[in-house]
Amino acid sequence: MDLIFEISKPGRVGIDLPESDVDEVHVEDKFPSHLIRNTPAELPEVSELQLVRHYTALSNQNHGIDNGFYPLGSCTMKYNPKINEDVARLEGFSRVHPYQPEETVQGVLQILYELQEDLAAIAGMDAVTLQPSAGAQGEWTGLMIAKAYHAQKGEKRTKVLVPDSAHGTNPASASVAGFETITVPSNEQGLVDVAELKKYVGKDTAALMLTNPNTLGLFEKEIVEIAEVVHEAGGLLYYDGANANAILGKTTPGQMGFDIVHFNLHKTFTTPHGGGGPGAGPVGVKQALIPFMPVPRVERKKQQYVLNNEAPSSIGRVKGYYGNVGILIRAYTYIRTMGAEGLLQVSESAVLHANYLQKRLAPYFVSPYKQFCKHEFVLSGSEQKKLGVRTLDMAKRLLDFGYHPPTIYFPLNVEECMMIEPTETESKETLDAFADVMIQIAKEAAEDPSIVLDAPHSTIIGRLNETQAARKPILRYKKIREPVES
Ligand SMILES: *Cc1c(COP(=O)(O)O)cnc(C)c1O
Repeated sequence: MDLIFEISKPGRVGIDLPESDVDEVHVEDKFPSHLIRNTPAELPEVSELQLVRHYTALSNQNHGIDNGFYPLGSCTMKYNPKINEDVARLEGFSRVHPYQPEETVQGVLQILYELQEDLAAIAGMDAVTLQPSAGAQGEWTGLMIAKAYHAQKGEKRTKVLVPDSAHGTNPASASVAGFETITVPSNEQGLVDVAELKKYVGKDTAALMLTNPNTLGLFEKEIVEIAEVVHEAGGLLYYDGANANAILGKTTPGQMGFDIVHFNLHKTFTTPHGGGGPGAGPVGVKQALIPFMPVPRVERKKQQYVLNNEAPSSIGRVKGYYGNVGILIRAYTYIRTMGAEGLLQVSESAVLHANYLQKRLAPYFVSPYKQFCKHEFVLSGSEQKKLGVRTLDMAKRLLDFGYHPPTIYFPLNVEECMMIEPTETESKETLDAFADVMIQIAKEAAEDPSIVLDAPHSTIIGRLNETQAARKPILRYKKIREPVES
């Protein structure tokens, strides 16, 4: 289908404004002349119906969890229950102002307090801050807490250890927090090698950042020993809990020996994500690290909820006001509608779904880690590559069937990687339909590669220059007279 962008016709209007009831303002008196527009803005002139159709057509070009399967590994694109939206829109939540006196926002503070408590229980931590607005900011906050902790003990620890399968934000956050990042190689099973790790751990180790299950979807079985190695050297353990839907109710990072955790509410706890919209990356810590947490902390004093700013060792504020409150309310709603039993079932279903898909697809692709996986798994397109079909081509071909492709070329330690995370919210029918399509694509790659190489065939644009689209996006309406320069 063609999308026609230029539908403006001079004189056509889609709105009917009431007559102005304010005095005319002489802009010349108020603004310097160089800021005043001499010619009217070239706004599109369209009818209301045209406008509605234009945006509806545009929105239909988007792929989202509400219109199709989205098995983007490590990103946990699962269903966002609509009850979360209903609750976040209640006037008592949506119309409060962050500068209102504490005693007039007791309901919001109570929710924040209880969410802190719930997340602390889920993490096995002693306290939680809800301020950070993304996973990456949570990582940075956690590492700043670690830094303050070591500094107060008078220890100069400059290195953060990160396994080679880690999410890219881990080394980035460590750098931004002022640490040197040291990459620890995984062994053949895709796990941290304890003997190897020992060579890296020392007096200068500030922390080891780990995600468990790791980004290959594999559980680090040696985690207790790994924790001992790091703790014995005086380092801390940081848990990247962005995707916690394999462990909910099964175990906690605290039980595994971790000291600091961040969660992504916009992954595990069903708040919307993508498009750079508001997220939340709460951070939990063990007792010894509480003094360094950001302020204000939401606390309960007798029957009152209060914002406590008194923490002399705190790293300070990391976000304005109370964090992204609308998102926090959505996550709270999710946790309370699921309950402990429901959250446990989330983990069991997420793991079951991933293993089911892995079993169905393993015969058709290279499956580098055949063991039982957790909430996600990786396949390699290395056999198809020999036929001249890359993982990127297969990902593009999936678009023709209405699926968002899995994460590709990550983690970096798997050649032609496809990282698939079906999530717990999909039906068996969806998993089977997706598996059938993947198997068909594997066959096409072998028998008629051009179908895959020329994909996508059905989308409005084919293969765009992704770098250019990200670096030089055209985000403003501009009347098209000549072709837009590339
Ligand atoms: C998504 C993700 C992050 C980063 O979270 P953002 O909210 O995108 O900053 C960190 N670690 C892992 C494992 C992730 O999947």
